[in-house]
Amino acid sequence: MTYDQDNIFAKILKGDIPCDKVFESEKTLAFNDISPAAPRHILVIPKGPYTDIVDFASNASQDEQADFWAAVTKIAQDEGLNEKGFRSIANTGEHGGQEVPHFHLHLLGGEPIGKMRSKD
Ligand code: 5GP
Repeated sequence: MTYDQDNIFAKILKGDIPCDKVFESEKTLAFNDISPAAPRHILVIPKGPYTDIVDFASNASQDEQADFWAAVTKIAQDEGLNEKGFRSIANTGEHGGQEVPHFHLHLLGGEPIGKMRSKD
C-alpha cells in the first residue's frame, strides 16, 4: 500500500490538526484516541510514513523501531497502564479493520478490557 500523505495522523504530525498529546520523542508520538473505547485509550504512532505494522517492522530503521518500543514501555509505565494490565492492538488492513492508514498501536486500559474479540 502506498502511504497516503493526507491521512488524519499525517495531518496531526504536520500540526494541521490538533491532538491531545500524551508523549513525544524524536521519532514517536502518542495521543489520546478521539473516540475512546476504554477509560484509557492511547494511540502510539511512529513519526515516519509507515502504513501498518508490517511496513513499520520491514522498513523502519532500527532507531525508529527502538524509539517506538521504548515509547510504548514508558507510556505503559508512566500512565499507570502497566499496574493492572492493558491491551495493545495494531489493526492491520481490511480484515483487521484498520481505518487510519498510518501505523498505530492502540493501548487500552483503565478497566478490564473484556474478550479478545467481539463479533459486532
Ligand atoms: P484503526 O481502526 O485505524 O485501528 O483506529 C483508528 C483510531 O483513530 C480510532 O480508534 C479513532 O477513534 C482514532 N481517530 C480517528 N481520527 C482521529 C483524530 O482526528 N484524532 C484522534 N486523536 N484519534 C482519531
